[in-house]
Amino acid sequence: MADKERALRQKIIALCLEMNRIGLNQGTSGNISARHGDRMLLTPSATPYETLTPEMLVSMPLDGDGTAWDGPLKPSTEWRFHRDILRARPDAGAVFHAHPIFSTALAITRRPIPACHYMVACFGGHDVRCSGYARYGTEELSREALTALEGRTACLLANHGIITLGDTLDKAMWRAVELETLAKQYTYALQIEGGPVILPKEEIDGVLKGFASYGLQTPPKAA
Ligand code: 13P
Ligand code: ZN
Repeated sequence: MADKERALRQKIIALCLEMNRIGLNQGTSGNISARHGDRMLLTPSATPYETLTPEMLVSMPLDGDGTAWDGPLKPSTEWRFHRDILRARPDAGAVFHAHPIFSTALAITRRPIPACHYMVACFGGHDVRCSGYARYGTEELSREALTALEGRTACLLANHGIITLGDTLDKAMWRAVELETLAKQYTYALQIEGGPVILPKEEIDGVLKGFASYGLQTPPKAA
């Protein structure tokens, strides 16, 4: 295995461990993929993250029908939306899926997240949509996810969880942390008498302009 591919596999495992460590996900209910040339590297289905080694990840061609993959374990049951998003969204180098508590609570009430905080702009628009409902692992869920992600880098999946995208794995994870934070703030604000005040469209338009050059920074590598 080439060094670059091994590093990408190790990074996926590190983020799986991290998402559970920080309480963004529970058990094995999330999955993460990264683009690697014309293939995707993806977590295997229902495998405890602590047991994962780079060799245990799945490598699947992006132009395939999901029946052929390399690896010792079955791919995540969500291989279809990972594949379809990486195919349809050249801006995405990584796809992150989890069931964080606050985001999922909003998804259970089928509630999109409006512009209750300027950070909504880090997902590309004036809101974070909630997809229509479809059963996990289905082609229908993949279609619903792609629709909810149009012009966005995140969405809620009805009665299920979240998807976030990034050009890198770190960016996709960063967005997941920001999305869960926003969902928590919005949920608390909904409990307070009067409820959230939603920011006007022009305000978010201005923030979106600034956000064209805002986002996770990675320190330059030491020479
Ligand atoms: P996998 O364990 O098959 O990746 O599925 C978890 C999940 O979140 C399904 O939506
Ligand atoms: Zn899921």
